[in-house]
Amino acid sequence: MQFEKKLEENDIHAMIKITFPDNSVREYEEGITGLQIAESISSRLAQEVLAASVNGETWDLTRPISEDAAIQLLKWEDTEGKHAYWHSSAHLMAEALQALYPGIKFGIGPAIENGFYYDVDPGEGVSIKESDFLAIEKKMMELIAAKEEIRRKNISKADAIKMFSDRNENYKVELISELEDGTITTYTQGDFTDLCRGPHLPNTSYIKSVKVLSVAGAYWRGDEKRPQLTRLYGITFPKKKMLDEYLEMIEEAKKRDHRKIGKELELFTFSQVVGAGLPLWLPKGTQLRLKLEEFLKKIQQQFEYEQVITPHIGGKQLYVTSGHYAKYGKDSFQPIRTPEEDEEFLLKPMNCPHHCEIYKAFPRSYKDLPLRLAEFGTVYRYEQSGELHGLTRVRGFTQDDAHIFCMPEQVKDEFLKVMDIIFIIFKALDFKDFEAQISLRDPENKEKYIGTDENWDKAERAILEACEEKGMKARVELGEAAFYGPKLDFMVKDALGRRWQLGTIQVDYNLPDRFELEYTGADNQKHRPVMIHRAPFGSMERFVAVLIEHTAGKFPLWLTPTQVVILPVSEKFNDYAYSVARTLKMQDIRAEVDDRNEKVGRKIRDNELRRTPYLLIVGEKEAENEEVSVRKQGGIDQGSEKLTTFAHRIKQEVDEMMNPQVNI
Ligand SMILES: [Zn+2]
Ligand SMILES: [Zn+2]
Repeated sequence: MQFEKKLEENDIHAMIKITFPDNSVREYEEGITGLQIAESISSRLAQEVLAASVNGETWDLTRPISEDAAIQLLKWEDTEGKHAYWHSSAHLMAEALQALYPGIKFGIGPAIENGFYYDVDPGEGVSIKESDFLAIEKKMMELIAAKEEIRRKNISKADAIKMFSDRNENYKVELISELEDGTITTYTQGDFTDLCRGPHLPNTSYIKSVKVLSVAGAYWRGDEKRPQLTRLYGITFPKKKMLDEYLEMIEEAKKRDHRKIGKELELFTFSQVVGAGLPLWLPKGTQLRLKLEEFLKKIQQQFEYEQVITPHIGGKQLYVTSGHYAKYGKDSFQPIRTPEEDEEFLLKPMNCPHHCEIYKAFPRSYKDLPLRLAEFGTVYRYEQSGELHGLTRVRGFTQDDAHIFCMPEQVKDEFLKVMDIIFIIFKALDFKDFEAQISLRDPENKEKYIGTDENWDKAERAILEACEEKGMKARVELGEAAFYGPKLDFMVKDALGRRWQLGTIQVDYNLPDRFELEYTGADNQKHRPVMIHRAPFGSMERFVAVLIEHTAGKFPLWLTPTQVVILPVSEKFNDYAYSVARTLKMQDIRAEVDDRNEKVGRKIRDNELRRTPYLLIVGEKEAENEEVSVRKQGGIDQGSEKLTTFAHRIKQEVDEMMNPQVNI
């Protein structure tokens, strides 16, 4: 190695101090690399490490460190480690493409959340199709087997332009022309050199299994007036098993797509005439949504929330005061005019301004606080049509919103209570795996934020303490707070391990100021309340989408739109089937009869596909004895049972879920 030779020649052993994340310090010879540091700790670590964070910057493992530094060795589990891995994989795919498609030109090739892509121009008349993926993967595996070293090099701007011009790489030349001389680096492996900032893996053999996933068109620099390039997506893993699991997960995700299941189970639909991004809830979807609302309302009642209802529109001035007009005005739905000159209303993008006006409707005293106003409030925001996606990105949606107006010293208690509500919901809906993120202000940049130092300190401490008291391990992000207050977000992992952001608790010092909200304190003086926004589901639309994908449409009994379907074995027993349905409905059980003229086996299959929790098969014996033959979801035959016993059992199960015991 170069650096070792240099040391021998000069016989200088200048030492540098390396500080590790646990604040321990070790001395190493100047020029040591991240990889060598890992080796000095353990050979296992050296095998797992992918990149190194050196004084906060991610570096190649083989880049010599020449001065004291704080370092962190990054592995697959670290976002930056994975990023270096997938970015190196993008280069690997490009190298394979260069070998397979002579004359191919390259655009950009970044790592993304799941894998990487490369935008390429394969040349006149050449196209890359799905049927070519196998050959590309094969070539990538060859280059992996060759264990090609990946080398970083500084290059002057003039040299870089010459190098890429000589190879007719006009896209790269355009990129280089925008860079500053002295900051440009290239990375080379085998015959492939890329303009790149890095960091990269030491060699290609770190990549173990590869998959080219899909191909799409993409305009150069996202500009439809520029040439259209071919975007190839891929993914790689350090273990074959991980790739297999990932591909399985993608297949399963396709099956669980909420748009597909929403259609199969007749939950919601869209109409181009009504408008894109404006969901129409069908009877079964409405049933489901109303149950969720009822569930949350019951919990909120126990936590002393008060339900309010406010209009879907509000005078323009309301949103000028709140600041929402500045944020949404130009880029959202435009004001609604009336015959009155200069009178304008906006579709509400947020419920908060309306709730501030409710707060202001009366003089408030400290004895009234906390005041918790809840509303299933429908709001409208104009998302770009390209961004719309099923129920997760829509233009009209209903938030399970509430605003808590309280005194600064009540913030912690309110956080604890909202966390309780969120935990009850996660438990009821079987979200076992979730994490939290606390967003605080940037301590270096305090002037960016509205509100007093004292209040910020109090609120930030309150959130940290609330999480600690709940035993909730939360990631703390400095500088991620909104300008108007710190917040706590919950991320759940669904059944496929995908992360969804659900549930936010946000402190706000801004709106109380803008609306000049006040309360009279025990000292008889006027004070400003703190406002807390919170929405455990986020929005009903998004939450139902996540729930569909999490459960694959197999909703829990208490929530599912149709709980029981009764299947008469022949027409003769239709009357009994309907009388069973009536009995169940009297007990608030959502029951239907499948009286189609089909074989009972067919009826069972169809209703199982509709994810019905209970099928009741009725024939002569059942009709005579007032019984039902019970078949539980998943094909579990539970035998015959008295109808009254069955009804009682189901009702009890549902009631327990709908009325969770809350310890306040
Ligand atoms: Zn690169
Ligand atoms: Zn709000």
